[in-house]
Amino acid sequence: QQELQQSSITNGKINQPLKQPLSQINDNKKPLNELRSSLTKHNKPQAPLFTPKQNETEIEIKEMKEIISNEINQLSNSSNITSNNSNNNNRQICLDQFELIKVIGRGSYAKVFLAEYKKTKKCYAMKVIKKSIVNDDEDIDWVQTEKHVFEQATNHPFLVGLHSCFQTESRLFFVIEYLCGGDLMYHMQRKRRLPEDHARFYSAEISIALGYLHSKGIIYRDLKLDNVLLDIEGHIKLTDYGMCKEGLNRYEKTGTFCGTPNYIAPEMLRGEDYNFSI
Ligand code: ADP
Ligand code: MG
Repeated sequence: QQELQQSSITNGKINQPLKQPLSQINDNKKPLNELRSSLTKHNKPQAPLFTPKQNETEIEIKEMKEIISNEINQLSNSSNITSNNSNNNNRQICLDQFELIKVIGRGSYAKVFLAEYKKTKKCYAMKVIKKSIVNDDEDIDWVQTEKHVFEQATNHPFLVGLHSCFQTESRLFFVIEYLCGGDLMYHMQRKRRLPEDHARFYSAEISIALGYLHSKGIIYRDLKLDNVLLDIEGHIKLTDYGMCKEGLNRYEKTGTFCGTPNYIAPEMLRGEDYNFSI
């Protein structure tokens, strides 16, 4: 396992820089942002109120800080590398440039922290994945895919995009856009039921996000309430690209059985090959 990690991860595969600096990527956003404001005119739900649970957070932050400082001490700067920084292409981003503030989410694979980038004081979500769960080639594939899709998502107003990524000896870090509105699971558990026009609004934005991924040859495969986040204005963004399949053309099919049990598409349950329909 160690050998595998050495060869496939620490050798910089995950650390390859983005193809474009972030500043250029953001330039492409204009037409989509117009679309976003035009959707707002159609009964956009109120901006959500979201308070993440506070308990445990302080202990987890303390533990994480200890792990981080141990690892930073062990490593020379060199393997703590990054990706995109629009101001300085070769500038390395690493963990000690962020201040961890609190835990904002947990998924099946990752823990997500709110973190402030010390240099700009801007807040980001930091998705942390333990390397110990990345065991074989297939696992390395999903980590790579997640990174690729985060990069492509940086173009889109309804998809969470990447700021940077790096690793320490034990963990992988994706620094991504922070959405302060919580996820739809949080809101649905409180509201139980959405008014029809709100459901229609969210569906429209989710469809646009999925349509964009499909246009890039990507199947999302993990659509569920926990992966739909709300921003400060009440718009949605999809996140969590670990289950995505990349590189499919319109006519190609794939067959991997994956996703989250309660949300698996009928085609997949029937054991059929599938494409963008799921
Ligand atoms: P996993 O791959 O383990 O499922 P996710 O990426 O889905 O991890 O993140 C887990 C949870 O963390 C999400 O359900 C959400 O509540 C929270 N979260 C993830 N990304 C963000 C973000 N960018 N901004 C705010 N909260 C987030
Ligand atoms: Mg998730």
